[in-house]
Amino acid sequence: MRLSIIVPCYNEQEVLPLFYRKTGEVLEKMGCEYELILVDDGSKDGTLAVMKDLAQKDTHVKYLSFSRNFGKESAMYAGLSNARGDYAAVMDADMQDPPSLLPRMLDKLQTGEYDCVAARRVSRKGEPKIRSLFARGFYKIVNCISEAEIVDGARDFRLMKREMVQAVLSMGEYNRFSKGIFSWVGFKTAWVEYENAERAAGTTKWSFWGLMKYALDGVVSFSHAPLAFIAWLGLIMTAFAGVMLVFVVVRKLIFGDPVAGWASTMSVIIFIGGLQLFCLGIIAQYLAKTYMETKRRPHYIITETNDPDAEKIR
Ligand code: UDP
Ligand code: MG
Repeated sequence: MRLSIIVPCYNEQEVLPLFYRKTGEVLEKMGCEYELILVDDGSKDGTLAVMKDLAQKDTHVKYLSFSRNFGKESAMYAGLSNARGDYAAVMDADMQDPPSLLPRMLDKLQTGEYDCVAARRVSRKGEPKIRSLFARGFYKIVNCISEAEIVDGARDFRLMKREMVQAVLSMGEYNRFSKGIFSWVGFKTAWVEYENAERAAGTTKWSFWGLMKYALDGVVSFSHAPLAFIAWLGLIMTAFAGVMLVFVVVRKLIFGDPVAGWASTMSVIIFIGGLQLFCLGIIAQYLAKTYMETKRRPHYIITETNDPDAEKIR
């Protein structure tokens, strides 16, 4: 039995040695065969140098270095594509995914009852309040409208059987939203809960707007509800306009109508104009995603690696 641990890293030179030490200790104790796949997502600091150094000292370490920053989703995809283990796990480099959970996760998986064991943080302590607030709101909304259930607090940290890894890889979409993909493929998932841990060193790569965009991507990737919403909105507005039309004509016939109401006419025109642009914007989001999918661009490009069999472009 062999374990593959995939670690997406973007500018993580400060924390990577610590991660390697702590995770290495746990893996050695577990006593199974393993490979540590470090994915350098186009880092601008010395992350790649740290990886090369580790790979030289330890044959368990395999590194894949991207030609530029492709994003964590692409890094995970590259890691999973190049994992050779019977089990694979994705872990953040910043120690927010505690390696100490790994033995428990493996034990659960080996009972044979589950196909996947995922980590879920039950608290968000240490996180900025506003970020938690928006995150909670996002999970509420997305679970109302999405076809895949997205669990609040679920991390990308999960240990999967080979079958599930294959299923995740078979979803070759360009716009990847892993939280949705993991849930969409199904399989029996067990949850391991833990208290939120703060980043050990370095800084988060997520800005507030970056997260907002990611959340919107998640909605567009796994739900058509916004499209249905604007269709209904259009229908309701049309019905309302019909009633108004009858009202205006009847009023004209009965009372006659001096030219007045410039202000109200203007506000209606501007309101409807705004609404139309808003609805067009929603359609455009889906169109843009479709456009990117049709180009079938690769998810990642690897320029440097110590694995001769690595799939360099996929
Ligand atoms: N990451 C990456 N590419 C990126 C951004 C982030 O590979 O473009 C990695 C990062 O190095 C870390 C993980 O994704 O290992 C999670 O990132 P981060 O800790 O910044 O996110 P947070 O935990 O704050 O959500
Ligand atoms: Mg983090």
